[in-house]
This record gives sequence, C-alpha cells and structure tokens, in this order.
Amino acid sequence: MFPLLTLLPKKDRAVRFRHPWIFSGAVKKLPEAENGDIVEVKDAEGNSLAHGFFSPQSQIICRLFDFGGLDKASAVPDFGLAYWIAKFGRAKALRERFINPATTNCYRLLHAEGDFAPGIIADVYDQTVVLQILIRGTERLLPVIEAALRTMGYDHIFVKHKSSSQHLEGLAPDSQWLGERPSLPLTVREHGLQFFVNPEKGQKTGFFIDQRENRKLLGKLSAGLKVLNTFSYTAGFSVYALAAGAAEVHSVDISKDAIAMGNENVALNSGPAAGAHVGIVADCFDYLRQTTAQYDVIVLDPPAFAKNAKSVPNAARGYKDLNLLAFRKVTPSGLVMTYSCSQNIDKKLFQQIVFSAAADAGRNVRIVRHLDQPSDHPINIFHPESEYLKGMLLWVE
Ligand code: SAH
Repeated sequence: MFPLLTLLPKKDRAVRFRHPWIFSGAVKKLPEAENGDIVEVKDAEGNSLAHGFFSPQSQIICRLFDFGGLDKASAVPDFGLAYWIAKFGRAKALRERFINPATTNCYRLLHAEGDFAPGIIADVYDQTVVLQILIRGTERLLPVIEAALRTMGYDHIFVKHKSSSQHLEGLAPDSQWLGERPSLPLTVREHGLQFFVNPEKGQKTGFFIDQRENRKLLGKLSAGLKVLNTFSYTAGFSVYALAAGAAEVHSVDISKDAIAMGNENVALNSGPAAGAHVGIVADCFDYLRQTTAQYDVIVLDPPAFAKNAKSVPNAARGYKDLNLLAFRKVTPSGLVMTYSCSQNIDKKLFQQIVFSAAADAGRNVRIVRHLDQPSDHPINIFHPESEYLKGMLLWVE
C-alpha cells in the first residue's frame, strides 16, 4: 500500500530496537517515492518492520513514526486522521498525569521523536498550539495535524518554521496562523505565575517551557538572596526568584527585546517586589568579567553553544569560561545552577567541562543535584538523542 524501502542485510537491528532513524547507508532498495511520502520499511528478507517519512535529500533518509510492522498480528493502519488523533491523545494523557492545569497551562504536547512523532514539535499555550514542522513529511501532513488538534479543542494554531531544517528540507519559509490569529501576546500560567508569550517573535515557540521545573526549584532557593540570571530571555528564572522573595535579582541578556519582555513579565507578577529587579542589556561574558558584584545564586542558561558535532570543542571552551566566570562571582556557600542544552554535549562531558572550570577557579564545588528536561519533553528510550537539556545545581564554597 505504501512505497517500499528495503534495508540491507543486518541493517534492521536498529529498527527492531525501535530507533526512529534510518541512515541512507542502510538502504538496499529505495522506494519509488517523493520527499515527505510515507513509506513502508522492510528488512532484506521482506519482513515488514515500520513506517516512516521519506527524506531522500537527508542523511537520515527515513524517520519512523510507527513500528506496528514488528507486531505481526496488527493490520497496517492508513495513517489517516484517526491514527494521529490517537497518537496525539496518548501524548496528551502523559502530560495530564504530570501537569496541573489549575496552575500550569503551557507545556509541550509533542516532543518529536520523544513522542514517536518525528518532525513535529507542538507547544500548548492555553488555547493556542504553536507547531514547529521540521521535515517535509510532517509539512505535507499539516492539514491532518491541524484537524487532529482541532478535534482536541485548541482554538488557535500557529506554524512556526525553523530555519535550519528549512534549509535541508526545502520547507516553505513563512510562519503562519491556521485560521484565526488570537490577540498577542498571550498570557499563560506556569506554577501559578504568569507570563506573556508572543509566538510570532523570539526564540523557540515563544517561551522556554523546558525550564519550568528548574525555575520552580530556583524559586525555592532564592528567598532573601541576591540572584543573577544570565541569558535571561523573558526572565523566567527571575520571576520565580522574585516571587519567592529574593532580595535582589539581576537579569542579563544581550537582546534589548528580551530584557524588555522580561521586565514586563516581572511587572506582571511581582507588584512591589518588581523594585528588586534590574534588567541589564549586556553580553553575559563581558558582564561577568566586569561586574564587581557578588551573587548568592547564579543561573547559567546559555543558548546551545554546540549546534553540531563539529562545534563541540569551541562550545566546550565557551561553557568552561562561563562557568569559571560564575565561580569567581558567587559568594562562599553560594549556588550556581548551570545548564547546557546542546544535544552534542552529553551529561558526562558537561560535568567534565564544569569540573575543569571548578579546578581553575580553585573553589570547593559540590554537585547537589543533577537537573534535566521535564516530563513534557520525554526521552524516547530507543532514541537517546531526544535528551538534550542537562544541568547541575552546585554548592560553591
Ligand atoms: N534562560 C532562558 C532561556 C535562555 S535562551 C529562559 O529560561 O527562558 C538564550 C538567551 O541568551 C537568548 O535570550 C539570547 O538573546 C541570549 N544570548 C545569547 N548570547 C548571549 C550573550 N553572549 N550574552 C547575553 N545573552 C546572550
């Protein structure tokens, strides 16, 4: 029923382990199919294994979203609307187990391969869903994705195209509202705090949803203290620190717009406590080098320094410098909350980098907690690549 992609002998192992990527080198016979078509994948003996989106120009020539072929008894679905409604419904059930709608109405609904839905990221902001469509396959499926989301009751859908994958896949460049555009910015709830989100502007889908639980943890640790939030973007960490009664909070970001949005978020939440906040437009490296201030708590949440495997050594130097600078500015018995969201730098390497910064700083550093991505950014156990956010809470003497 679907065009057939046949694997070389012995190249079916990863697929049998439900890894969602097929590399071009594993293919014996290409399907007669176009970019974005759904294809069936068989092993060299002709056993059906899985179905996926065909991407002939990409090294990852097929992204698998269904492994029903491994279950001999199951009939092949037509992968129509009902199939996607069921898949999205299972993703939502996971979120409903972990997220309390009374206090939080923004979360990631679909985390691509993490939800067995390669090529789709969907972030929910109350009644609005912001989609990132990463491959041609899901771009062609967009009408079905839209219909499935409408069935689930969302009023507004925004498709935000991501520039790096556009380049590889030849996707349409324009971001667009499907149907009615809501009035912007949206106001969302996160652990009872409020945030303005503008999906049309800014990074990711408008907000760094993935730091929700880590922001909450920072709040618990900030009462009465002087906090520095570097790479603050819309001041998420700062809002939690202020709400928890931090004595002073400084947010630093190189983007004037980010600092302006951050100030608005602070004003939205803290009332009189907003006076304890200062937003500073600066390069964080320069700021940390030049400031004479000392901080009780420092958050380091930079953008991904390693965008690909080649940039890992440079990125490692960047993370090391940043952490070293922070170790020099944190008070004795202070805390550094440090992160990397580079997929190419794993937890072990990140810890080694921070180790060398601690050694150079000559401070006694203890890891009090490893930090990671929240439940709405699940890691598909067969696809460890879906793990990207790692952090540590450090006690620095
Ligand atoms: N911590 C944020 C997300 C950080 S996103 C949150 O929880 O929402 C990364 C931010 O780093 C962006 O806002 C970007 O403007 C900023 N940025 C990138 N390079 C920078 C630099 N060298 N100095 C300061 N800010 C920088």
